[in-house]
Amino acid sequence: MVSEIHNSPGDGELDSSLEEESSMIDLASDTFLMGQAMRQAQKAYLDGEVPVGAIIVQNGSIIARSHNQVETLKDATAHAEMLALTQAQEAMGDWRLGDCDLYVTKEPCPMCAGAIIHCRIRRVIFGCGDSKGGAAGGFINLLQQPTLNHHSEVTPGVLEEESKYLLKSFFLEARIKKKAGQND
Ligand SMILES: [Zn+2]
Repeated sequence: MVSEIHNSPGDGELDSSLEEESSMIDLASDTFLMGQAMRQAQKAYLDGEVPVGAIIVQNGSIIARSHNQVETLKDATAHAEMLALTQAQEAMGDWRLGDCDLYVTKEPCPMCAGAIIHCRIRRVIFGCGDSKGGAAGGFINLLQQPTLNHHSEVTPGVLEEESKYLLKSFFLEARIKKKAGQND
């Protein structure tokens, strides 16, 4: 009797409470949402685009998903963030995205950071940093520029290794293809 009471109910309670907790954390967490942006980056990879993906979240709902489409659209401004911002503005019927958060697998460039500030995005969460071209603190920080009238909160390094690995694989493959092409 004693061992029954001690073991079974106790274990059951522990298991179910852990399950509940982990599913709650998963759906709202930066890691889960960056995972959704990573899926977009993988789509870009498969399309032969530099693999960067972005999503925009409002009140826990994803209102925009996009990936880099510079080659597909033959448009140098078709970065994942720019396309996601346009989608989100359409979804909201407004250019003001002040209660929206943007998840992107790579640190935004100056063009995208400028657009992010214009749309008043609340928070920017990114994967790997870009010390040469990043405008969220990499080489400049346009998202928190004191002279501008809007600042976004910045969370760097979410799924950093995964996004870096995808980008490295893409550029390695591109170099190999280029070399193979030169030998023909
Ligand atoms: Zn950009």
